[in-house]
Amino acid sequence: MQPEMRIGYGYDSHEFKPGIPLKIGGIALPHDQGLGGHSDGDVLLHAITDALLGAIAGPDIGSLFPPSDPQWKNADSAVFLREALRRVKTAGYELVNLDSTLILAAPKIGPHAEAIRNHVAQLCGIPADCVGIKAKTPEGTGTENAVVAHVVALLKRR
Ligand code: MG
Repeated sequence: MQPEMRIGYGYDSHEFKPGIPLKIGGIALPHDQGLGGHSDGDVLLHAITDALLGAIAGPDIGSLFPPSDPQWKNADSAVFLREALRRVKTAGYELVNLDSTLILAAPKIGPHAEAIRNHVAQLCGIPADCVGIKAKTPEGTGTENAVVAHVVALLKRR
């Protein structure tokens, strides 16, 4: 018998690179640099994807969408998230809520948190009040040139 509920955890980090757009949670944020990576570098959507995949003990995002595969170059990370949600459904579960913490020196997330929350909720098919978006500054971690994302996700049996 499958457990009634499952929890998943996802982590990701991407380094800032000049001259590319910054996308976090599928929202374009005004900033002078963006996040490098093979896809669009959306650190939050990657961490959510891994949290969902982890909750069903599935393969991780890097195994499903290897950076070595040219088809994922500049890919919209919503594609990864949709595949994770599809696998969650196939496994017999649905997403209840998720919570995230972003760690970054700039830009400030506060003014954009509502837009990110609404967009992530829409992508995941859950209410906006089931999506936590929080941000911290790096404070002594030495990761000022990166954005780090931590995510937990709760699933319930369908
Ligand atoms: Mg990533």
